[in-house]
Amino acid sequence: MTTNRTFTMIKPDAVENGHIGAILEKISSAGFKIVAMKYTQLSTRDAQEFYAIHKERPFFGELVEFMTRGPIVAAILEKDNAVEDFRALIGATNPAEAAEGTIRKLFATDIAENAVHGSDSDENAAIEGSFHFSGREIY
Ligand code: GDP
Ligand code: MG
Repeated sequence: MTTNRTFTMIKPDAVENGHIGAILEKISSAGFKIVAMKYTQLSTRDAQEFYAIHKERPFFGELVEFMTRGPIVAAILEKDNAVEDFRALIGATNPAEAAEGTIRKLFATDIAENAVHGSDSDENAAIEGSFHFSGREIY
């Protein structure tokens, strides 16, 4: 059963802008429990692999450049209905379209530099979580 877990990254823009603490506070207040977390930086190869699903999109090069330009916080979160509830908490991909109070509305810069990642399915949550964490790093 993976339905109670999702995977997130606080992206380089939000780290640069000093929003790590505020974003973690929103995540905790919304009832998510952090079961794994690390401060790290993606290599070009990591970002290309993580976002492989987008490799034909016109913004792929920009996305890889953005995601590798500075450190990120990667985390696995636990809560009932984690994937769907976390997507609701972060808001639309484009912060201009994100609902009031969502993490992207509050902290994102634009559609590219949008502060946080959230898995879009239970299957991807499991794949993305294992991309960053071994079993021994999940508590
Ligand atoms: P998400 O699931 O809401 O993160 O959105 P997508 O899966 O569609 O896109 C993945 C990531 O690519 C987004 O979170 C953005 O960081 C980036 N992205 C999406 N659309 C664009 C775009 O039009 N231009 C650029 N430069 N980046 C984009
Ligand atoms: Mg996506």
